[in-house]
Amino acid sequence: MPDGHAPDHEVVVIGAGVAGIYMIKRLVDAGIDATVLEGEADLGGTWYKNRYPGARFDSESYTYGYSFSKTLLDEWHWKERFSPQPENLRYLNFVADRLDLRRHMQFDCRVLAAHFDDDTGLWRLHVSDGRTLTCRFVVMALGLLSTPTLPRIPGRASFKGPAFHTFHWPREPVSLHGKRVAVIGTGATAIQLIPVVAEQAAGLTVFQRRPNWAAPLNNSPISEAEMADIRARYDEIFAACERSPYGFVHTPDRRGFYEVSREERLALWDELYDRPGFAIWLANFLEIFSDEAANAELSEYVADRIRQRVKDPVTAEKLIPRDHGFGVQRVPMESGYFEAYNRDNVELVDISETPIECITEHGIRTRGAEGTREREFDVIVYATGFDAITGAFDHVDIRGRDGQVLRDKWRDGPSTYLGMMVHGFPNMLMPNGPQSGSASTNYPRGIEVGVDWCTNLITHMRAAGFGLAEPSAPAEAAWSAHVAEMYQTLLMRKAKSWFTGYNSNVDGHEEGRVRYFVYNGGMPKYRAVIGQVADGDYAGIAFTDASGGTLAAADAPDFNSRRRARMATP
Ligand code: NAP
Repeated sequence: MPDGHAPDHEVVVIGAGVAGIYMIKRLVDAGIDATVLEGEADLGGTWYKNRYPGARFDSESYTYGYSFSKTLLDEWHWKERFSPQPENLRYLNFVADRLDLRRHMQFDCRVLAAHFDDDTGLWRLHVSDGRTLTCRFVVMALGLLSTPTLPRIPGRASFKGPAFHTFHWPREPVSLHGKRVAVIGTGATAIQLIPVVAEQAAGLTVFQRRPNWAAPLNNSPISEAEMADIRARYDEIFAACERSPYGFVHTPDRRGFYEVSREERLALWDELYDRPGFAIWLANFLEIFSDEAANAELSEYVADRIRQRVKDPVTAEKLIPRDHGFGVQRVPMESGYFEAYNRDNVELVDISETPIECITEHGIRTRGAEGTREREFDVIVYATGFDAITGAFDHVDIRGRDGQVLRDKWRDGPSTYLGMMVHGFPNMLMPNGPQSGSASTNYPRGIEVGVDWCTNLITHMRAAGFGLAEPSAPAEAAWSAHVAEMYQTLLMRKAKSWFTGYNSNVDGHEEGRVRYFVYNGGMPKYRAVIGQVADGDYAGIAFTDASGGTLAAADAPDFNSRRRARMATP
């Protein structure tokens, strides 16, 4: 590397979650001077923060763990098929300690600003502890769902009792026994939380704006014997995840939806509904993601299952989504969610009919046809989701060449090269960035792919004596157009969800204009494309050489050329 200006570190990784942990492992192994800056008091990212009761994987545990280390695979015992948050956090700590990575991490160090210095070619990071650090590469491992959002309801600050977002669930145990609890929101988080709270609280009122589809998780323990079998089959399991479009063990039913009879479809759905995990979503016919009629038939099937499980028919109908079909958003996985509404201590308030007027000192006031009504609560829980994908980037003051502000560049939605680099922001790498493959898959499976690619780029540059890497504007435009085009075949593009950038609590994201946040081509295609770019001397990326001269970027591949291959899904 050219060494006109010696940085404090060759690489700074921002974030010590699943991506940051593996990134620092790869950098340390490559002998590259690097450190991780983490804003929280410890590592773990999403599993450090989301401590709400019921939080657990929706991926099979043994497909979520890192695949790169036989030591880790041999020594860790997953105790449940879908492991709960405390165990997941223990796992990430086990990884960091077993691989001695903690000494490369600095906690309580939130990066407030990252500015590229045109004169030195270095990044200058402003850290919450007052320091300024320079580095040649900055790796953004910020998390996809790490910026929680609160509803803009009048009076929120006036409530006298405890009130928190699920992401900020207190670290000390919260007893809900004998309490009157309100939960606002019915997304994947609430759907995990509600059955657990229903069992503890004296009363639970759920405020639902739009219902979500959900299907049984069918969790179970993993015995020593089963774990031994899983260990023996890890190669096979990860190979299956690699072949799957979405990095899970579930593979689509390749029979055409219309090639089989309705009876055969119903028989498949009966079987999938009782299988663990995402089977009912991802082991289904591919047409459910793209064909309105096929999706409607499946949606009606799942609606009937809800009607069978919820005793009160009026409540059952309120829990069935009307504005989107099953599986066009990431499907929340549940354990007794629908049965929770059969309990005497649980009430469902449909706020599309009786909107929340305000939050008061003692509770929540709604306004309906019969006037206003105030319910009193001891605790209010906001399960109101995240400023997804780009939110974490927007909260850091990131400036690239010529002072260009990333937040401004991405105002109407992200544009990237391969989801890992941005034109105008040299040497800024995003192993699981917006528009990357890992944003729409079983996250660790995608994260390992992104981290490997970013690490290989850095080692390639070091070997070649290159200083800066930056994708060309045409290469970025081509990738972003490809990402947008992949949305067009999917019903998902019509859903108001975090996959399309919708969030009623964030300025500019409430109007429902689609933001192309994730790459929907599937992991096999994503791996092939990014591998092709690397093999082609990093086509689409311009480098500066040892003398500071610029080596122009070769043309990026034609990303749409193989797009006609059968569609993959989130
Ligand atoms: P979410 O899916 O975005 O759900 C947010 C919920 O809050 C929705 O029901 C939404 O209603 C409601 N809401 C938001 N603002 C509101 C307002 N102003 N007034 C009333 N209601 C409001 O967020 P999430 O449940 O946290 O899940 C996000 C993602 O996290 C999931 O899709 C999944 O990828 C991930 N996750 C994974 C797991 C796992 O199993 N591993 C668990 C939890 C979450 P509307 O639908 O009307 O907007």
